[in-house]
Amino acid sequence: MRATAVTAAGLALGVLGYFYGFLRAGVALMIFAVIVYLGYSYFAAAGQVPPDVESEDVSDESLMYVCRMCGLELKIETVTTDRAPSHCREKMELVNVAPSPPPLRPV
Ligand SMILES: [Zn+2]
Repeated sequence: MRATAVTAAGLALGVLGYFYGFLRAGVALMIFAVIVYLGYSYFAAAGQVPPDVESEDVSDESLMYVCRMCGLELKIETVTTDRAPSHCREKMELVNVAPSPPPLRPV
């Protein structure tokens, strides 16, 4: 594969250099090689599927975060990382609030 590419480049340099000058042909082939390399690496990277993110259901633990800047409260149902979420460019503060059961009333 590599020897074929070198041979094709040498043949192209010979043919194009004969008609347009070897310096211009060499520069054109180098630019062609850079464009082909960048295009191939772009499409090779675009074809890769990112790995699935492991998530954990924590809806039973009732994790609540509060933004101390604006007062936003956030209840976490599913986590993917152990980092605290941020809001207003600040880390949110964890407050564990156990859900209060509904009041029992005699029927
Ligand atoms: Zn906020």
